[in-house]
Amino acid sequence: MRLVDLNPYWVGHGGEGVTQDGKPVPRREGLGLAYDCPCGKCETGRFVAFRNPLDGGLPIHPDRALWDRTGDTFETLTLTPSILHTPGKGGCGWHGYITNGEVTSC
Ligand SMILES: [Zn+2]
Repeated sequence: MRLVDLNPYWVGHGGEGVTQDGKPVPRREGLGLAYDCPCGKCETGRFVAFRNPLDGGLPIHPDRALWDRTGDTFETLTLTPSILHTPGKGGCGWHGYITNGEVTSC
């Protein structure tokens, strides 16, 4: 299936009206990808954070799992390594790849 069919969108952070410890948080774009789970059963969407965000800045939550991104559109996006929705962390167990905008289960 194609990533574009999973209602994908880029996830940003900060900007107008967002503060942390009383200080404004600068707007960031393309920190990660949100999409409907390819398993077709999950009611909540999924999120993966990029090691190399679209805006060229540093990743958010560098202490958590990050994916290497190639491509800057949903049609051309490739993420490595594979994606696992870890069952122990509330995931459904789906495991697969996003390669050149194509989503494959493994
Ligand atoms: Zn799922």
